[in-house]
Amino acid sequence: MSRIAYVNGQYVPHNEAAVHIEDRGYQFADGVYEVFAVHGGKMIGEKGHLDRLAHSLRELRIDWPVSRRVLGVLTREVARRNRVRDGLVYLQITRGVARRDHPFPENAESALVLTARRAPPLDKEALRQGVSVITLPDIRWKRHDIKSVALLPNILGKQQAREAGAYEAWLVNDDGMVTEGTSSNAWIVTKDGELVTHNTSHAILNGITRLSVLEAADEAGVKFSERPFSVDEALSAKEAFVTSSSSHVKAVTVIDGKPVGNGHIGELTSRMLDLYVDFIEGKGGPQKTDTWN
Ligand code: PMP
Repeated sequence: MSRIAYVNGQYVPHNEAAVHIEDRGYQFADGVYEVFAVHGGKMIGEKGHLDRLAHSLRELRIDWPVSRRVLGVLTREVARRNRVRDGLVYLQITRGVARRDHPFPENAESALVLTARRAPPLDKEALRQGVSVITLPDIRWKRHDIKSVALLPNILGKQQAREAGAYEAWLVNDDGMVTEGTSSNAWIVTKDGELVTHNTSHAILNGITRLSVLEAADEAGVKFSERPFSVDEALSAKEAFVTSSSSHVKAVTVIDGKPVGNGHIGELTSRMLDLYVDFIEGKGGPQKTDTWN
């Protein structure tokens, strides 16, 4: 079956889908995006993604290309047309097409692209295997709460991780604190058993998976703390994991070449994976999604 993309009002074969060379996304990275997980035919966290998108668009003063309600419909339609039961839907909105010039164009209409692709169904055993991360300086701009398509530091960090044989790079700010991964949120369980992830601020992207895990933890009575943690704290942690729409809850068993705990997935991480899967199969995603910075 050939893939179908949605480009500015039309469904087109994926390999023929194209945008104009003067799209400001292409020229200035003047745009935002979202990645929705589809799990067992269900769109995960649609409300959260659209709330976060609203935040990104508002902060960058980019217009909605269609209404929020229509965008929800289109997102589901692209998944349906591509027969995605398990996989991802990618949504990108840019400020539109205009003669290349830095200030906002007067009359450009924002441009919308949607694609979908299948991925293997969530596999708890694979997620429990554990991956390694390295730490790198966080060289990004100062608004990580905006899901901007400008991802150069993120791709350079991810590439460096891959070349080091690691799955992800955790980004470390000038104060020695881990903010998040290049495409995921970072979590540890401290040696005192405290579940920790960075608080929402301009320093991180507030992950929809992060929000689901926090809500699931809250409901199950698992205590957690939203605060920065240092590289030293991470290196002496009992457990660690990453969360994202494509990685779900993935155990981290090595940081900068050193085993985390006993080098196997931790007890609480394993429990959080189970709670997360139950949560998305039940509620379908986070309900408390109105806290953006
Ligand atoms: N932080 C960054 C920098 C990301 O790119 C992502 C993935 N888009 C996340 C966190 C996790 O967000 P989500 O759970 O919504 O996929």
